[in-house]
Amino acid sequence: MERKKEKVLGCNVDLLNFENAINLIKDNLKQKSLMHIVTINPEIIELAKKNKEYYNIIKNADLTVPDGIGIKIALKLRGINQEQIPGIDLSKEIIKICAENNIKIALIGAKEEIIQKAKNNLLNEYKNLKISYIHNGYFKEDEETDIINELKYSQAKFIMIALGVPKQDFFIKKCKESIEDGIFIGVGGSFDVWAGEVKRAPVIYRKMGCEWLYRTIKQPERIKRIYKTLPLFLFKAIIEAIYSPKEIYNKKQE
Ligand code: UDP
Repeated sequence: MERKKEKVLGCNVDLLNFENAINLIKDNLKQKSLMHIVTINPEIIELAKKNKEYYNIIKNADLTVPDGIGIKIALKLRGINQEQIPGIDLSKEIIKICAENNIKIALIGAKEEIIQKAKNNLLNEYKNLKISYIHNGYFKEDEETDIINELKYSQAKFIMIALGVPKQDFFIKKCKESIEDGIFIGVGGSFDVWAGEVKRAPVIYRKMGCEWLYRTIKQPERIKRIYKTLPLFLFKAIIEAIYSPKEIYNKKQE
């Protein structure tokens, strides 16, 4: 499949729709493959700008899907109409495919009671789903090797990591050093939603690209995060759109 990418403030963003992203992941599910999916948003890009190691992890991701209204606006400023692909929807669809095809999944992250509830709710929703490994997200660095070994032996193929950014991507990088077959995705607060602890924004908010606004109203402690990131990101995106030439390049999928 022909892959189109665009750089937003130096970070790659794959230009593809939901269906194409699913098809790409489906192809990887069928074979032995190692894949790191990043659902990129302004917060990730701003963090990557400040931390070279994190920047390299994001740069080397195998699929960078545009999540977040900020990315959509940054692309729109260059005349590119890109659909938003929320990581939570992408992950849910892949879980469904795994259940239908007898593919094992793993969940790592969130508080113990949250991950247990999320696991039970997913098992109720998808009758044939095989969750071969779960672990809460509050572990120490010296526990990581054991967790990665357990994950490896669980033979989970689709592995969701919910540790928040940038932690989840650093952890995925570590997993990739010793696991040879797995599709990893950082899913942020998705387990909280699947556990029924946090409500997803109503469809009207999502359609308008305002899920962030709903989440901020419901969790006002998030204001600081958005205030620190979004205005500066949008300012830089405008400057970039004015001064740098449109740079779309095609990359044949290996
Ligand atoms: N979390 C975790 N371990 C940590 C820090 C965070 O498991 O050391 C979890 C936290 O409980 C929550 C998720 O990571 O379930 C992060 O959610 P957040 O809402 O920050 O993610 P977003 O969706 O905004 O990226």
